[in-house]
Amino acid sequence: MDTLTALPAFDDNYIWCYRGDGGGSVVVDPGDAGPVLRAMAEGMRVAAVLITHHHADHIGGLPALRAACDAPFYGPHDERIAGLDHIVGEGDRITLPGFVPFTVWAVPGHTRSHLAYWDGRVLFCGDTLFSLGCGRLFEGTPAQMLAALDRFAALPDDTLVCCTHEYTLANARFAEAAEPDNPVRDALLADIRARRAAGRPSLPSAIGIEKACNPFLRIDRPETLRGLAAQSGGLTGDRLARFAALRAWKDRF
Ligand SMILES: [Zn+2]
Repeated sequence: MDTLTALPAFDDNYIWCYRGDGGGSVVVDPGDAGPVLRAMAEGMRVAAVLITHHHADHIGGLPALRAACDAPFYGPHDERIAGLDHIVGEGDRITLPGFVPFTVWAVPGHTRSHLAYWDGRVLFCGDTLFSLGCGRLFEGTPAQMLAALDRFAALPDDTLVCCTHEYTLANARFAEAAEPDNPVRDALLADIRARRAAGRPSLPSAIGIEKACNPFLRIDRPETLRGLAAQSGGLTGDRLARFAALRAWKDRF
């Protein structure tokens, strides 16, 4: 098993398993216990479980995993999530044997209690940032989501981005409409289409890749967002207005 493994679940979810130096793995957002239990049967030891947000496809496996392992479970303060050992929030650090400590960020937007976890190399961003896209605003505002994406964009370019859905090629259709001319993205898509055709995940992505290709991280480049300009009757607003217009367009795309 590689250091970072994306276990497929449901139609397009990934349950990330991140192995530390001690051999145990951190498991992120086990919406379905089945893939994790199978990995455990093949030798994976669960060092901890991290939860990003309360949606069923991210927490559904918690009861069965609690019964199957005695690792600590971490997640946000939210009455909709049962069975956590440790409630964590903005600025907390999670220290686990064999791992660089994870920093916890509160990143509301997709949901009001959404968290992200970062260890200096790998970002577990749940349903906040996707490759070539970003999460829907179910419980938050465009300003909250933009603030979260700005924090992610400030991370080192080689930060690995572990999104929890295989949405990349679907997002690509919108990215091409929003920003018609982006040769870096076009080259990335050729690579991703080959990976998907071979049955491999398009993920993890990297912050540098998303900054070069993801329109939601490129709202400071109005000269390239010609598709958005055409949709919005010109890009006259500030960057928050541009971001909100881009997200609203994606919602109806
Ligand atoms: Zn979600």
